[in-house]
Formats: sequence, C-alpha cells, structure tokens
Amino acid sequence: MATSDYYEVIDKRFSRLFNGNAQVEKLATGFKWAEGPAYFGGGRYLVWSDIPNNRMMRYDETDGSVSVFRHPADNSNGNTVDRQGRLITCEHGGRRVSRTEHDGTVVTLADSFEGKQLNSPNDAVVKSDGSIWFTDPTYGIDSDYEGNKATSEIGACNVYRIDGDTGAVTAVITDMVRPNGIAFSLDEKLLYVADTGATHKPGHPAEIRVYDVDGTRASNGRQFCLCTAGLFDGFRLDADGRIWSSARDGVHCFDPDGTLIGKVKVPEVVANVAWGGNKHNVLYICGTTSLYAVRLMVSGAKTY
Ligand code: MG
Repeated sequence: MATSDYYEVIDKRFSRLFNGNAQVEKLATGFKWAEGPAYFGGGRYLVWSDIPNNRMMRYDETDGSVSVFRHPADNSNGNTVDRQGRLITCEHGGRRVSRTEHDGTVVTLADSFEGKQLNSPNDAVVKSDGSIWFTDPTYGIDSDYEGNKATSEIGACNVYRIDGDTGAVTAVITDMVRPNGIAFSLDEKLLYVADTGATHKPGHPAEIRVYDVDGTRASNGRQFCLCTAGLFDGFRLDADGRIWSSARDGVHCFDPDGTLIGKVKVPEVVANVAWGGNKHNVLYICGTTSLYAVRLMVSGAKTY
C-alpha cells in the first residue's frame, strides 16, 4: 500500500482521500499541549487551547498569523461551535462548560451535576437540537499541570447532556473510565466517545466506543475501534461518516464499519482535530507543541 512522509494507506479505501502531493504543514509551534481546535467559517480562523499555558490561540487562515485569543483561559481544553456560531468551551480551571456570546460575554452552561461540582470537562459536541454533550474525566483536577488539583466530588467520569432549551444537565453515559473525545454520526443515531482510561487503569482498552442514541439518551455501548498507537483523544467525522481520530503517531482514519483504512502522519502526539478552510476540506491538527494542517480530498461533516 502507498505511503509517504505524510500519509499511509492501510486499506485502498483511503487512497482517494489523500492527494499524493499533499503535505502536512506545521503552521505554528511553541505550545505545551495544543488541544481543542474549533473553526469559525465566517471569520476564517481557528481557535484552540494551549492547556498548561492557560491560553487560547487563534490562527487566521487568510494571512497565516497566529495570536493569543484569550489569556488567562481557565485552562480551557475542548472547544466547539454551536448552531448559532458561538464558541463552546470545556474549562479545566473553571470546571465548567462555557459559551462565549456574540458580544464576548462568557456564560456558564454547566458546572455541576446533582449538586456536585463537575470534574474537568474535556470535549464537547453540539447536536442539531441545540443540546451540548460533553465528557468529564479528571485530567484537569488530577494535578496542577493543566488545571487545579482537587478531589472529584462526583466520584465518576461521565458523559453529560445539557438541554438546549432548559439548560438541565443529565448523565447520559456512566460506564466509561475516562471519556474523552466525542462526536455524533452524521444521522445522530450513534454517539462515538473515546476512552483514555488506560491512563488510570492499566490495561484498559484504548478504544472509541459507540452508543445508540434515542433522543436524549445513549445506550448499548460497545467497542467501535481499538487504537494501535497510543490513545485516542479527540476526533471528528468527514462528510461520508468516516472518523478521523487523534493518536500517538498522527491521525487515524476509520471507515464507518470500524476498519482502520489509513493514517495522516504527524511527527508529534496528536490530541485533536477540526475541519476548516473555505471548502471545509482542511484538517487542522493539534499535535502537542504545534498546530498542523493538511488539505484532503474529502470535506468535513457539517456537524460540530
Ligand atoms: Mg480530549
């Protein structure tokens, strides 16, 4: 199968996704742990988190400039964009999910569950009904490195749903060890969630799990795919439903049937990805100290 410095074809289905001349470009560097990319098409810029440095960055794709978007940033981690184009942020330091309004005001969407403080929200996705689904592992309270050391009040690492109308917070997945990256299938009938539980429970499978979604609920969790290099963190889907997931050696691409069909090679551990560009076919990649990008022959899903 074809391979180059920038990609590896594992299954021929990947061949038509990566142009042989395309390169993975390093756009910016100097971060401690780049995470949580989110793209704003109206402004043609990408926002992401540099968690240990307690700042959010911004890459302007019209001129390639990089600047600080927010500092301090409550050790923000995952970011996404809601259906009204507002920034949704998972904050380790604030132990909350926040929304940045169009006027710049930052409001709290969720900071507790049943009266107990959240651990440290990690990654989020917005469903078409306006609800926000997010993961809540302990990485932001395990130490002071990327948050503030604290004991978990909830005593579990769950996936939650914030109702888009009432703001009510419900636990939708309670059987994972460290839920992390999260995304819906194109028809929103499936919810994919990465489990990085191996960081705390040796031997726990480094997997993406998939759940059946029925309106406000998720059930019937089972393994979708297993990571062959490190751990899966954040991931996003393309317009055909493939999953493009972070891994230790780059971005792994999975067919909707769960087969690993190819890789985008990145010289640093990858934490998360986001689609951008005016044709939505640029995959932005947060890789430890640097921001990378590659233009693909497939576009990102129009989900968030
Ligand atoms: Mg994450």
